[in-house]
Amino acid sequence: MNRIYMDNAATTRITEPVLEAMMPYLTDVFGNPSSVHAFGREARKPLEQARKQVADALGAQPNEIYFTGCGTESDNWAIRGAAYASAKKGKHIITSQIEHHAVLHTVEQLEKEGFTATYLPVDEFGLVNPDDLEKAIQPDTILITIMMANNEIGTIQPIEQLAQIAKDHKILFHTDAVQAIGSVKIDVKAMNIDLLSLSGHKFHAPKGVGALYIRQGVKLQRLIYGGAQERTQRGGTENMASIIGMGKAIELADQQMEQHNQKLCAMRDRMIEGIMESIPETRLNGHATKRLPGNVNVSIRYIEGEGILIGMDLEGIAASSGSACTSGSLDPSHVLLAIGLTHEIAHGSLRLTLSEDNTMEDVEIAIAALTRVVTRLRSMSPLYNAN
Ligand code: PLP
Repeated sequence: MNRIYMDNAATTRITEPVLEAMMPYLTDVFGNPSSVHAFGREARKPLEQARKQVADALGAQPNEIYFTGCGTESDNWAIRGAAYASAKKGKHIITSQIEHHAVLHTVEQLEKEGFTATYLPVDEFGLVNPDDLEKAIQPDTILITIMMANNEIGTIQPIEQLAQIAKDHKILFHTDAVQAIGSVKIDVKAMNIDLLSLSGHKFHAPKGVGALYIRQGVKLQRLIYGGAQERTQRGGTENMASIIGMGKAIELADQQMEQHNQKLCAMRDRMIEGIMESIPETRLNGHATKRLPGNVNVSIRYIEGEGILIGMDLEGIAASSGSACTSGSLDPSHVLLAIGLTHEIAHGSLRLTLSEDNTMEDVEIAIAALTRVVTRLRSMSPLYNAN
């Protein structure tokens, strides 16, 4: 069976040019970039080149980019680092109800340590209302952290507007842009972003490497103590091959963004249309247009997301469900509940996330497969039969 991968929000394939760029650093160029000898110097130059590639894609300066171990570490560093560094000024943090757990659990942990937090609601499409942000600001607010694009429903936030509010109140603004890289044009200066997290494996670089943009002049407490790497702010010998891969991948993602987005939007819109046409009592989750080009998230009534997922896997199609069973919990996703879905409807959700590797033919195959899976599951569902 030809398998089709449609779970690119979970992770992406390392592409050939990225692997090619990485290979020397897994073989011949093995020096430690901190070493003063020729082997070390040979590694230092490409490390700084990768930093520039990341900076260029964000409209930042290379000395504002810090390499980390993943998106989760970047989020932790931005939020905890800002909170501890600003604790004397205030203890209030504002975030949204639909953040990734890398942000939500970090803020919740800070609450246990004496900080306070406001979790902004979102509308039925997953959008934060800038007026709600304005109203939530207190004299002791030190940090606003709102994601650029949601990993489940793909909604893209009005980040420029939100960051402008933060700037007007002289409050630090962090955004988790893990899902946005390669899909949303970012210019941290024009957008007034102080801190931005990203993760390599979401845009065809390896897993286990990320970066944090820290605007020059912003003070964060460091998270990882140890060596003097990353301008003394994050200890640990650099993951050379992965960092080089991430540099190459972000450069390519930036160069190819327009072309990829066009292709992805066409496939996404056909997928949504096809599902809506073939499967009754289905709803699209997230915003119709302010959404990531590769994201499809639907709720299909009367059946369980897990059943759909397994059915799709048997059909050779890799997708993801909106009910958080992967995290060992049977609770439906906090994102789907935040946009107002009932538990029952949230449980019947499916996320398909496309990459430029997918084709229109894959999309048609997936629509047909989903229609078969849903018809079979509904024929066995007492809820469906009662209707
Ligand atoms: N933030 C968002 C929005 C994500 O989608 C993810 C990964 O799924 C992360 C953070 C965590 O990134 P990483 O897997 O690199 O720790």
